[in-house]
Amino acid sequence: KENNTKENNVAKIKVVVRKRPLNKKEIARKEDDIVTVDDNSYLTVHEPKLKVDLTAYVEKHEFCFDAVLGEHVTNDEVYRITVEPIIPTIFQRTKATCFAYGQTGSGKTFTMQPLPLRAAEDLVRFLHQPVYHNQQFKLWLSYLKYMEESYLIFSVIEISDVQIVKEYIEKGNAARSTGSTGANEESSRSHAILQLAVKKHSDVKESKRNNDGNESRIGRVVGKISFIDLAGSERGADTTDNDRQTRIEGAEINKSLLALKECIRALDNDQIHIPFRGSKLTEVLRDSFVGNSRTVMISCISPNAGSCEHTLNTLRYADRVK
Ligand code: ADP
Ligand code: MG
Repeated sequence: KENNTKENNVAKIKVVVRKRPLNKKEIARKEDDIVTVDDNSYLTVHEPKLKVDLTAYVEKHEFCFDAVLGEHVTNDEVYRITVEPIIPTIFQRTKATCFAYGQTGSGKTFTMQPLPLRAAEDLVRFLHQPVYHNQQFKLWLSYLKYMEESYLIFSVIEISDVQIVKEYIEKGNAARSTGSTGANEESSRSHAILQLAVKKHSDVKESKRNNDGNESRIGRVVGKISFIDLAGSERGADTTDNDRQTRIEGAEINKSLLALKECIRALDNDQIHIPFRGSKLTEVLRDSFVGNSRTVMISCISPNAGSCEHTLNTLRYADRVK
């Protein structure tokens, strides 16, 4: 892509699609797998359709992305393709963001859950190198959950041992699934944001001099990476539901997903003005949308015929971001 500025050979925006395998229920229902991964960057959706005389036919939709990951691709490979290349840039003032987008049940949490731990392991390895160790760099974790206009900051902790990251991922996920209606219900309505920040522990004078809005008494953020498990994309369409609360939430989710798309597009076009005021979600992410930023969008799709419409919506969203 022409507009991708490359530093350290890491694209500014990367759009990846991941297809999950058919699950047991879909196999039991004898649902067709309608998504074919054609090669590393192409896929086709074979949409089942009916003519007016009810004869069946298939409409093909082809898409191209930076990477297309089929059902046999492991989480380790996902890490290597999406997050690993960004890690060294975190020490060069990069604010990176990795999103998982897609309908509920498409594999967002499955994809996102292992990434922060792997990233923390790699970041800690860098921190132990003398060049960084001597500069008093430290790693911090925070976990935020966004639902209906409000953010809940779960915790901000210094990481001395990467196992802590694992604990917090688990705690964070447990906290997300305490809603009365169950895990997927609650997580489909909220955005979960886990951030790993590399901070430089400097004295107050120095942090005043480096006033970029990021410093605090405990140190200045050098770079960071945010992992975002977005609300189910189908929720953004719940704007005509009979239930008022569902409609309000749907409108809010719709607004945040649209604003997110606009911000990523503006970034990709090197626009000076990034429309982060479009939603609470993008406002919270505003410092990740300026300067030296990196964005990875992982669009998760279900392969079954019954999900065709949602799958096409997800791919069209990803296509607009690209
Ligand atoms: P979402 O977070 O998008 O609602 P989940 O990540 O919870 O979806 O995935 C739904 C189900 O599918 C889970 O049981 C998950 O373990 C399974 N799953 C998702 N992606 C994969 C995959 N690539 N391989 C195997 N199982 C998967
Ligand atoms: Mg989920």
